[in-house]
Amino acid sequence: MDWWVSMPKIELHAHLNGSIRNSTLLELAKGLGEKGTIVFSDVEQAILKSDRSLQEVFKLFDLIHMVTTDLQTVTRITKEVVEDFAAENVVYLELRTTPKKNDLKGMSKRSYMEAVVKGLRDVTTVEVGLAPQDLGVGNPVNSGGSGNLCNGTARKQKIYVRLLLSIDRRETTDSAMETVKLALEMRHLGVTGIDLSGNPIVGEWATFLPALQFAREEGLSITLHCGEVPNTEEIQSMLDFLPGRIGHACCFGEEEWRKLKSSKIPVEICLTSNIRTETISSYDLHHFGCLDDNNMQVQCAGIAADLHKANHPIVLCTDDTGVFSTSLSREYALASSTFGLGRSNMFQLAQNAIEFVFADDAVKTELREIFYCAERKLD
Ligand code: 5GP
Repeated sequence: MDWWVSMPKIELHAHLNGSIRNSTLLELAKGLGEKGTIVFSDVEQAILKSDRSLQEVFKLFDLIHMVTTDLQTVTRITKEVVEDFAAENVVYLELRTTPKKNDLKGMSKRSYMEAVVKGLRDVTTVEVGLAPQDLGVGNPVNSGGSGNLCNGTARKQKIYVRLLLSIDRRETTDSAMETVKLALEMRHLGVTGIDLSGNPIVGEWATFLPALQFAREEGLSITLHCGEVPNTEEIQSMLDFLPGRIGHACCFGEEEWRKLKSSKIPVEICLTSNIRTETISSYDLHHFGCLDDNNMQVQCAGIAADLHKANHPIVLCTDDTGVFSTSLSREYALASSTFGLGRSNMFQLAQNAIEFVFADDAVKTELREIFYCAERKLD
């Protein structure tokens, strides 16, 4: 098995509906085509197209949502997505999704999220560490002390899953507030935070700010999609808000890099997504790291986009494994080959992500032990 697959990994930026298997999406679309709800061939073409601009991606999401929005399907795709991440040795997954209302299907934001939680419980291929109380006595991972942990046979494969509820930028302040209240009510089920996402050219920061402030006051963690399009004012307001993490950070100017670096806000890096959506024009210009003429990673001149070399907190993520035909292992292999980083550098990068998870200290301790054991196997 390649090291980028066998290595334990942490996924912090994965959208549920963007991570659906293509095969499932096509199967569901075919079903709706047969019922005459959609024209299957149009949908098939849209699903199989590989290169899309950021705006085309949002059109595809509208289409995906037509196909996936009933409770049974939400449960099915959640189960599949978790099983897929576990199969490539993701040991901690923060899965984000936008709670949806669909009166025609009798779906409320709450029943949507209950269907997601059911999907987590339906997972069969791996043990799922779901809510905080799952870390109790009798848990095979929690057997006490690193010595026991690394003995191998006692350990069953396990994936910790935490949920983030997304606010879509099309939503109103009231709707965003409803999502935050739902997140608070579902904390015991592993909901730990709020994400702001959706089409970055839609909506205003001021619309979401009251809900995000309320979420923070109540102890939820917050991550923001930030700088997917050039919008200096919004990027600066987002950085001033000091979220727990930000996603992407593609369209930053010198001042924004300066602010980001001094704030030490961790950045969720989605290489394939940024290239596919053309928010970054090529890998060698990606803010993960600057490359010289010999493709060696170097410190960028002055304050600029060289996050890895500058030791800024970063974590490699997938964004949408289905929509961008990628996996977390592939993102690690890609970063390794593009930026000339060896296996131990990549292991370190994966391990560093423990410090940025939106989970409690008990989970972080478990993750440290998992990486400790994996590192011993590397030697
Ligand atoms: P869902 O929340 O329905 O489970 O996942 C799909 C949704 O995630 C999309 O409708 C969109 O709101 C959000 N999303 C997925 N990928 C991206 C991305 O690259 N950028 C932004 N801004 N939003 C995204």
